[in-house]
Amino acid sequence: MTTAQTRQELDVQPTPLALLLLGREADPRSERGVECPGDLPLPSDPDLVERARAAKEKLGDKVFVLGHHYQRDEVIQFADVTGDSFKLARDAAARPEAEYIVFCGVHFMAESADILTSDDQKVVLPDLAAGCSMADMATAEQVAECWDVLTEAGIAEQVVPVSYMNSSADIKAFTGKHGGTICTSSNAKRALEWAFSQGEKVLFLPDQHLGRNTAVRDLGMTLEDCVVYNPHKPNGGLTAEQLRDAKMILWRGHCSVHGRFNLDSVNDVRERIPGVNVLVHPECKHEVVSAADYVGSTEYIIKTLEAAPAGSKWAIGTELNLVRRLANRFADEGKEVVFLDRTVCFCSTMNRIDLPHLVWALESLADGSLVNRIEVDKETEAFAKLALERMLALP
Ligand code: SF4
Repeated sequence: MTTAQTRQELDVQPTPLALLLLGREADPRSERGVECPGDLPLPSDPDLVERARAAKEKLGDKVFVLGHHYQRDEVIQFADVTGDSFKLARDAAARPEAEYIVFCGVHFMAESADILTSDDQKVVLPDLAAGCSMADMATAEQVAECWDVLTEAGIAEQVVPVSYMNSSADIKAFTGKHGGTICTSSNAKRALEWAFSQGEKVLFLPDQHLGRNTAVRDLGMTLEDCVVYNPHKPNGGLTAEQLRDAKMILWRGHCSVHGRFNLDSVNDVRERIPGVNVLVHPECKHEVVSAADYVGSTEYIIKTLEAAPAGSKWAIGTELNLVRRLANRFADEGKEVVFLDRTVCFCSTMNRIDLPHLVWALESLADGSLVNRIEVDKETEAFAKLALERMLALP
C-alpha cells in the first residue's frame, strides 16, 4: 500500500503548514519562507564547529550571539550569553558595539531584540522558519476582530490587554496601543495585578494556560472567572453575557511543547520515581500545574535546581534540550533530573536553528553579507516598545 493510498483510505489530509526539512527553498504557504541564499553547509560537514569558530573570530566584537535556553547544544556552545527571550533582548541592547545580533531562538524573540536594540544594530535569525506555534496562534487581524467583539459587547473600555512575551511584534503593538502591558512567565502575577488596577477585565494573549494559571494560582480567581476566546469561532464562541461576566478573557493559544504534558505524566513519574519533586513551567495545562510541587519560569527552574540538595530527585516539565542540559549539569552534584514525560518533547521550531544555519549566518556576515535580518517597522516598534516599557515599570 502506498502512502497516498493509506492517506486516502484513512481520510488523512497532510497538514497545510508541514515543516520543511532544514529549509533549502522557499515555501509560499509558510508565512516567512525558509530560503537561505547561498550555500547552506551540510549537517555532515566535519568542519562545522571550526567554521563557526573561525567566522565568529573574524567578526570579533561586531557580533553578539544570543542562545535561548531551549536551543540545541551544538548551537548553545557558540552563544555569548544564554537566557530567556527578554533577558537576551536586554543583553543585546547592553552591547551597542555589536553591530550584528545573531539570535539563536525563534522569530518573536528576534523581533523583541530588534525593538529593544538601537537602530544601528541588526538582528539576524539563522533560519527564518524558526517561528513559534504559540505566537502564531494570535494574528493582528484576529486580535483586531476580537477587540471589535469586545466593543460590541460594551466592555472594551473596561478591558486591559496583557500579552505574553511570546507574541509577535504586531500583538505587542496592539497591546501598547490599547493601554496594556507585556509580561514574562516570571512577572505575569505583577502584570495582572497592575492590569486589574487599570481596568476591570484582562484580555490575556496568546497563552491561555499562563493566563489561567496566574489568575487562579496567584490572584485567587476561580476557573469560572475565566473564559476562552476562540478566534476561529464567530464572536470568539462567547455570548456578550459571558464576556461581560468574565474577569479574564483568555486567548485560545497554547505552547505545543508544554501543552503535551498531562496529569498522567505527573502520576506516572511519581510512581516511577518515589520522592520525586515535580517542577513545571506555567505554560503547562492547569491540571499539570495543580498537580506539580513547584511552578515557575525557566530561570526559576534553573535556580530551584541550583539550590536543591544533593540526592534530591526532580521531574521537569519544560523543553527537552534544556532538561537534558540540566540533567547533565546537576548529575555531578548528585541531583537526579529527568524529563516529566516518557515521550520526546523538543520544540521543533527552536530546533530549526542548527549548526549548519548558524555557520551559514556567521560566514555570510563575516563575508559582508547581511542575511535573514529581522526588522520591525517603526510604527509597530513604537507601540510595542510602549507595552514593553510598561512592563519594565511594573512595581
Ligand atoms: S517552546 Fe513553545 S512557546 Fe517556546 S518557542 Fe517553542 S512553541 Fe513557542
